[in-house]
Amino acid sequence: MLSVRAVTQISPRLLRVTVGGEQFSTLRRSQDTDAYVKLLLPRPGSDLTPPYDLDALRENSPELLPALRTYTVRRWHDAEQSLDIDVVLHDDADGIAAPWAARARVGETIALKGAGGGYAPRPDATDHLLIGDHATLPAIAASLEAMPEDARGHAIIQLEHGEDRIDLSHPRGIEVQWVIGTGAELLKAVQALPVTVSPGLQVFCHAERGLTKQLRAHLVTERGIERGQISISAYWAQGRVEDEFQAEKRQPIGQIDD
Ligand SMILES: Cc1cc2nc3c(=O)[nH]c(=O)nc-3n(C[C@H](O)[C@H](O)[C@H](O)COP(=O)(O)OP(=O)(O)OC[C@H]3O[C@@H](n4cnc5c(N)ncnc54)[C@H](O)[C@@H]3O)c2cc1C
Repeated sequence: MLSVRAVTQISPRLLRVTVGGEQFSTLRRSQDTDAYVKLLLPRPGSDLTPPYDLDALRENSPELLPALRTYTVRRWHDAEQSLDIDVVLHDDADGIAAPWAARARVGETIALKGAGGGYAPRPDATDHLLIGDHATLPAIAASLEAMPEDARGHAIIQLEHGEDRIDLSHPRGIEVQWVIGTGAELLKAVQALPVTVSPGLQVFCHAERGLTKQLRAHLVTERGIERGQISISAYWAQGRVEDEFQAEKRQPIGQIDD
């Protein structure tokens, strides 16, 4: 079982929740810098608290099964047996995870599972391109920190509000650009980036689903970057709670690749 160890405001709309405890050592670990865990959170109206008896819930009251929400491990703290997750406080009132983070108090228990992941900056990459929105910022921040000092390239991050910009540690050769505005403005900024397509280029591109599809079309079709050089998937979808967003991955609307 894990519990909340600290809650830290990183920017007006980004809250760091540090969770830790004995279960830390059972989490699956890898070198991926986009490692993510699934939080199990009680649904509105449910007064269940962890640990959950998932089998019993599935059998007797499936409507009370906790909601799964996906969050990047911003940082692992091995000595303290804890990890940080940075939660965007998006203002959509339907959310479960964002309101949970806003209410989280030190000492409360939290169930989570994982971690999954699929990307890490390759030490032999000659050029990096990282693209994301606010939800991707933790993964981009962790990835930049893991790069060798001589890494080169661009990181471009879209935020709705300039006051949510944060300091990022990154190699000098990685140019960090903030786009304050809409997803359409991010796409325009990416289209304008001076990126040379070469076999050494490695791309990390994750954002809202509709935007991610447009970014994919630009990167693969317009720029001619090999699909294998790009880590790409949607992190969330406008107008969809995560349950729907995940279920739609099995349908045409959820596909990022044509
Ligand atoms: C691999 C992976 C890693 C992720 N890492 C992070 C992370 O580190 N930090 C982080 O904040 N998010 C991260 N996300 C995104 C996060 O899982 C979703 O934003 C999730 O939907 C939030 O859950 P919720 O309960 O707050 O909202 P939900 O109940 O899922 O959705 C409620 C409403 O809010 C909208 N919404 C959801 N997310 C956002 C958003 N970011 N901005 C605006 N509107 C939104 C939905 O469209 C829906 O209309 C990650 C997603 C993936 C797949």
